[in-house]
Amino acid sequence: CGIIGILGNHEVSPQLVDALKRLEYRGYDSAGVATVDASGRLDRRRAVGKLVNLSDALVHDPLPGHAGIGHTRWATHGAATQVNAHPHRSGPVAVVHNGIIENFRELRAELAELGVAPESDTDTETVALWTAHHLDQGMTPLEAARATLARLQGAFALAFLFDGEGDMLIAARKGSPLAIGHGTGEMFLGSDAVALAPFTDQITYLEDGDHALLTRTGMQVWDAEGQQTHRPVSRIDVGA
Ligand code: GLU
Repeated sequence: CGIIGILGNHEVSPQLVDALKRLEYRGYDSAGVATVDASGRLDRRRAVGKLVNLSDALVHDPLPGHAGIGHTRWATHGAATQVNAHPHRSGPVAVVHNGIIENFRELRAELAELGVAPESDTDTETVALWTAHHLDQGMTPLEAARATLARLQGAFALAFLFDGEGDMLIAARKGSPLAIGHGTGEMFLGSDAVALAPFTDQITYLEDGDHALLTRTGMQVWDAEGQQTHRPVSRIDVGA
């Protein structure tokens, strides 16, 4: 129900959890974070219930890294369990998602024909599984995410994080809001500007159907037709 992404210059796990706290008002039943550490290793932690459970998990089993994504889940498909909590991961990709992938049964059936079985009961995991499949076929992360996005029906705000790619986040939105935050040598994404307020007030709102490639030095955006486009940055003061 809330998503966050950070390409930072500090340990991001605590920042991700703080930002998720600012999204608590939307309601949630579980939460999780994934990071890429200095050696490029992708890993994740997830917990059912309050954010304090995720914080505790991170104390017992820290998640280092300066790049990461986080999620508070309001379950639509699959019970509120740790296995169903986001980030969903398949091999080298982790995904957080707000919304509903309407055609996930069809996407799953096609995966089953490829011999790919999901771990969870969620609609979201199909996004991670398809993206990993596309990477397997030799696509770059951007190509793989695009090939997956082209298949999705429904409403979504999505963020993708890749193993071995500590300076890259891919974001996409259709029917769910998504804000990009511009820092100094840092970039952020979140469900709203409130989540990003402690980090930056320089905000770009993606338009419906957009996807974006974020690095620490900036972003590129493509519209629903796949044309590269420009979205303005505005100062949004929501009070940090
Ligand atoms: N449909 C997804 C799920 O049930 C995402 C729900 C959300 O927006 O939190 O896992």
